[in-house]
Amino acid sequence: MSKVARIPGYQSKNPKQNRGIIGDREIRFKCSLQNVILDVLRGRPGWTEVPGPNSQVPAAQQGTRPSNFQSLPPIPRNSDGDWDFYWCDREWLHQNYDTMFLHEHQKILHFRNHYELTRKNLMVKNLKRLRKQTEREQGKTEAQSFDFYPTTYELPSEYHIFVEEFKKNLGIIWIMKPAAKSQGKGIFLFRRLKDITDWKKGEYQPLSDQTRDVPETYVVQRYIENPLLIGGRKFDVRVYVLVCSYNPLKVWLYRGGFARFSNTRFSLDSIEDTYVHLTNVAVQKNAPDYDPEKGCKWSTQQLRKYLAAKHGVDKVQKMFKAIDNIIIKSLQSVQKIIINDKHCFEMYGYDVLLDDDLKPWLIEINASPSLTASGKEDYDLKFGLISDLLNVLDLENRLTGKEKRIGGWDLLWDDGPIVADDNMDCTPANGSAVSTPNSYLGCFNDRKKQLREIYLTAQSVKKS
Ligand code: ADP
Repeated sequence: MSKVARIPGYQSKNPKQNRGIIGDREIRFKCSLQNVILDVLRGRPGWTEVPGPNSQVPAAQQGTRPSNFQSLPPIPRNSDGDWDFYWCDREWLHQNYDTMFLHEHQKILHFRNHYELTRKNLMVKNLKRLRKQTEREQGKTEAQSFDFYPTTYELPSEYHIFVEEFKKNLGIIWIMKPAAKSQGKGIFLFRRLKDITDWKKGEYQPLSDQTRDVPETYVVQRYIENPLLIGGRKFDVRVYVLVCSYNPLKVWLYRGGFARFSNTRFSLDSIEDTYVHLTNVAVQKNAPDYDPEKGCKWSTQQLRKYLAAKHGVDKVQKMFKAIDNIIIKSLQSVQKIIINDKHCFEMYGYDVLLDDDLKPWLIEINASPSLTASGKEDYDLKFGLISDLLNVLDLENRLTGKEKRIGGWDLLWDDGPIVADDNMDCTPANGSAVSTPNSYLGCFNDRKKQLREIYLTAQSVKKS
């Protein structure tokens, strides 16, 4: 039995009582991934697996399961392949979405054109557009609330504008990133235009030259030269955001997450050293002195406590509020573009970098944040994250639909900002509960206790 199933009042041991909107049968799921997500799905009472593309491979091969985790029953092979819930990969969705018919109850990961937010060039294009519109309609001051992404240009299409900007700011550092790659692949830093000559020769060919392939799209971005350092090392923060609907926009923010540190002390002397400048786990795990158990990570809770002690509660509160602003503005920038579909949901992994003034900068948004665990703590975080995501989606129909918090997820936006009921564990800077947003990133996450309470409340509401 999974950990989740042990929460009293939350899921019944009698599978019949776990059936909800699906009707009088178990919930059938498919999953393309082989990590924590599969453990969560296989361990969820009343859920049963139907064969997916990777079903024969044992789960969690790459992840670290706690030693007491019981092995799960084999996958039934006689299923008709139909499903109620599909954690699919993006490629599968792209290939199948346009031709598939979804039944009323079916839920699937990813919106059709999620890349509008998760490709680096498109994210910035959409943010620039909403910023301009805001300036036109609401003025310059309001538009300043978009000052959270570093100056960015798409290459090769904006090469000439970039060169103009480059000449205005000689000596600063720029970072080049392939628009559609991840895990730090293809990234490099440079100070002089001639440093990108090689890249230009290889990649940037005039589009008029029809004999060549279209060059790979890159973004060139102002490098944040003054990151906040802890113990002399740079880090960024992974924030999990769940969108269940774009119209109306409904957004949940997970209170857990982590900071990913680089392995080597920060310095601007060696800009070619990726172990210094890129905080991706995929990069850092190749560093010679990388410790896989520690994984160069701090929980967001640990980070919040540390920052509050060092910089004061008010400043830290302001910083977390600025992260809320990043989340909402970025989602609003694609709200009218994303093909909204009630069957779809998205769990984004936001990468946010803090500078030495505690200003958060949006670096990128991932549609498939890693769900492979690097250690026991990481496993527990991701297990809770995904379990609670399924609790929010509530295919079992056990909740009232009015909840503002479900496990570790807090409702941040529902066609407008959500105000907190109380101050819970993170005291607001101004001491007033009235205008406090329902946002608890890095706050205490007593998810199991909270789940017990809301399931009991929902039960009695439904009975009455
Ligand atoms: P990828 O999708 O390959 O992970 P990212 O845009 O997330 O690419 O960049 C990888 C890492 O590089 C980030 O986690 C961060 O540490 C660093 N980085 C990226 N852009 C900047 C920037 N503008 N300023 C400072 N560091 C950056």
